Amino acid sequence: MTRPEVPAERKSFVYQPSGGPVAEWYLSVACEEPGRTAGDRGLFSAMHPLQCVLQVQRSLGWGPLASVSWLSLRMCRAHSSLSSTTCPSPERQEDGARKDFSSRLATGPTFQHFLKSASAPQEKLSSEVEDPPPYLMMDELLGRERKVYLETYGCQMNVNDTEIAWSILQKSGYLRTSNLQEADVILLVTCSIREKAEQTIWNRLHQLKALKTRRPRSRVPLRIGILGCMAERLKEEILNREKMVDVLAGPDAYRDLPRLLAVAESGQQAANVLLSLDETYADVMPVQTSPSATSAFVSIMRGCDNMCSYCIVPFTRGRERSRPVASILEEVKKLSEQGLKEVTLLGQNVNSFRDNSEVQFNNAVSTNLSRGFATNYKAKQGGLRFAHLLDQVSRVDPEMRIRFTSPHPKDFPDEVLQLIHERDNICKQIHLPAQSGSSRVLEAMRRGYSREAYVELVHHIKESIPGVSLSSDFIAGFCGETEEDHVQTVSLLREVQYNMGFLFAYSMRQLSKRSATDLCGRNDGNLKVIFPDADMEDVNNPGLRVRAQPGDYVLVKITSASSQTLRGHVLCRTTLKDSSANC
Ligand code: SAM
Ligand code: SF4
Repeated sequence: MTRPEVPAERKSFVYQPSGGPVAEWYLSVACEEPGRTAGDRGLFSAMHPLQCVLQVQRSLGWGPLASVSWLSLRMCRAHSSLSSTTCPSPERQEDGARKDFSSRLATGPTFQHFLKSASAPQEKLSSEVEDPPPYLMMDELLGRERKVYLETYGCQMNVNDTEIAWSILQKSGYLRTSNLQEADVILLVTCSIREKAEQTIWNRLHQLKALKTRRPRSRVPLRIGILGCMAERLKEEILNREKMVDVLAGPDAYRDLPRLLAVAESGQQAANVLLSLDETYADVMPVQTSPSATSAFVSIMRGCDNMCSYCIVPFTRGRERSRPVASILEEVKKLSEQGLKEVTLLGQNVNSFRDNSEVQFNNAVSTNLSRGFATNYKAKQGGLRFAHLLDQVSRVDPEMRIRFTSPHPKDFPDEVLQLIHERDNICKQIHLPAQSGSSRVLEAMRRGYSREAYVELVHHIKESIPGVSLSSDFIAGFCGETEEDHVQTVSLLREVQYNMGFLFAYSMRQLSKRSATDLCGRNDGNLKVIFPDADMEDVNNPGLRVRAQPGDYVLVKITSASSQTLRGHVLCRTTLKDSSANC
């Protein structure tokens, strides 16, 4: 069998059976419940995991396991993570990759090289076989005074992220410019929360493409990078659709920017979209964009664990984690010394703050939620909570105003409300995103409260902090929302009398690449398999046509694959025992 043609942009990725004729690969999969999302766990089974792997190897006919070992070895030298990849430009790949690949395979390490105690074949270790050169030399990581133009889209978190990214690049020797025309590197800090935000970036990329194409050859080539949520959400789609994008960096990958840009300098696309469980950029002091500014954002936590059903944030910004109190206080003190008069503490759920970095506080009982509110996740324990942080921050400089955004209504215990009431420098302003005035819609949104609980909290806040300014976010047009639900939202707006409201039309976010009519299961090797919902034969009842139900085992013919998902069409309903006979 001949080697399948793999698209150029795939060639330098860790082996994946994508892009070419995957040939005949049959799996039995157990169906998940329809309508479950990408994050849901599903049943799964396939008959012969090894057999499946071997069949793929045979069909590809070019020893993928050997290529995995060699590429993995190279990745270990080059990168800190597997989510961090580089793609040579198509021209360079065409002539170099195949030759390079087979010669590396021929001279690559043998089994003996991996055994510490074994005496490896001398001729392979002698100086005649050169160790491959290091991937990047230290000086290549330096900015060499290249000028960076940063453009920010979306929320205040992105404004703060821009400052963090700039702080990292500045340390590496890059210069900043506010003039697009003189930039050597253009970085867009992007937002994915609604489709319109993403469309704005796609349009901007088209403009930048023209700028890149028109660039005189006498200047260093212009490099374009996508940072933040859109890089995280669309990953390969951006690299594939917009060939002029050189760098992708997800919200937790800004420290890697110097390396990614250095890779881009050599004409390759570079990406790192690895999400972290603990990255808070605690030691990166953001550089204030305007030296004459009187206010600043201070990021105190990142990510979100709430999983509201309409929201992409947990997928683009990852798990919730908080920055240590000490580093926040250090930053606030510096800002006070610089004469700033206002800081806004930032986070996706700023008042869910929980610093677990100091073990002595980890046995403390967890703070109560607001009355009538629940979490979607398992209750967390201990740590230093938002009330403690707010207390400490407000003591740094009595003449410095403290604000915070964006809070979640579930995390307003009395300690927080009392502090806001009694401290002169904590602003008497609370953003209290309601999202809807209908309990039915709130449940579908997985918000963890009813309209009644929300209204009770509003009354409690108004009593605890006389004169408080309240604002809120609302979404209109959520799936299944009726006219009656909408009327209830309008009535909540009237009842609470907010000082300010942010009203959004619901924007459907993709969580999964499958359409509503597709079904999904997992094979024995735990790979996700997507296939259209269609009639099929039941092997135990010949002649009977059935549709797959949750928990069924079905035989699927795989027709294509991406890095994480297989696609195919369903052949028949089966059992584990019967399916062995077919594979
Ligand atoms: N974490 C805060 C909370 O939920 O209480 C809000 C932060 S969220 C990043 C900002 C706002 O974007 C949300 O309050 C919501 O109103 C809006 N939003 C999020 N996903 C949306 C979607 N798919 N369509 C429309 N608006 C959306
Ligand atoms: Fe999104 Fe806010 Fe819900 Fe988190 S709490 S999922 S950020 S809307």
